Amino acid sequence: MIIAIDGPAATGKSTTAIAVAEELGFTYLDTGAMYRAVTFSVIDRGISLDDKDSLKIFLNMLDINMYFDDKVFKVEINDRDVTGKIRDPEITSRVSEVSAVQEIRKAMVNLQRQMVVGKNCVVEGRDIGTVVFPEADLKFFMVADVRVRAERRQKDLLVIGKNKNIGELEVDIKKRDNKDSSRTHSPLLKSDDAIIIDTSNLEFEEQVNLIIELTKNYKKEMT
Ligand code: C5P
Repeated sequence: MIIAIDGPAATGKSTTAIAVAEELGFTYLDTGAMYRAVTFSVIDRGISLDDKDSLKIFLNMLDINMYFDDKVFKVEINDRDVTGKIRDPEITSRVSEVSAVQEIRKAMVNLQRQMVVGKNCVVEGRDIGTVVFPEADLKFFMVADVRVRAERRQKDLLVIGKNKNIGELEVDIKKRDNKDSSRTHSPLLKSDDAIIIDTSNLEFEEQVNLIIELTKNYKKEMT
């Protein structure tokens, strides 16, 4: 069974998807972390997005590994642990540009499909319900007021010792959403059959419970 959770930046997709996966005993797949890891590697290796030959070589040898280690979500790319790097503001500001490249998206979608084979999985991203798993059993599209999202992002950054002002964060979030929604290849888009969850005024437990309840109802209907 696949549960797709899509939506714009900082709507609480990751924390919600992790809690839902844990509660249901499902595997969790964070596709945003994959695009972030690729962004880190592309910058680190100095690969130009226009250099299609180097990009092809890089994508052919790409290996991404994600797992929980003592409740910490770890991300490795080609055997390098990049967990502490991928949420840096530099990566966040470049990830939309990198993830808009068609060759990169194609490689990512293939990997994502391979990663869930034979598993019950909560998959989180931007194009999961529309492109990666259009046949997903349940699809959710999480949204929230931009101010609320900026406040949440500010709290997340403080946890890793970084401080950014709310106004700047709002601008960053809107910019990233615009880029993700307006790209040519698999833009951020609500699938017609996705259920909208507006988390602006929801407590964390409420949004998690809502998805779990809807999943349980779906399972009942299917039996
Ligand atoms: O979810 P997160 O904020 O970590 O995603 C980082 C970026 O990765 C997004 O802004 C988007 O550019 C890209 N992304 C994507 N498709 C996905 C997941 C993320 O293009 N399925």
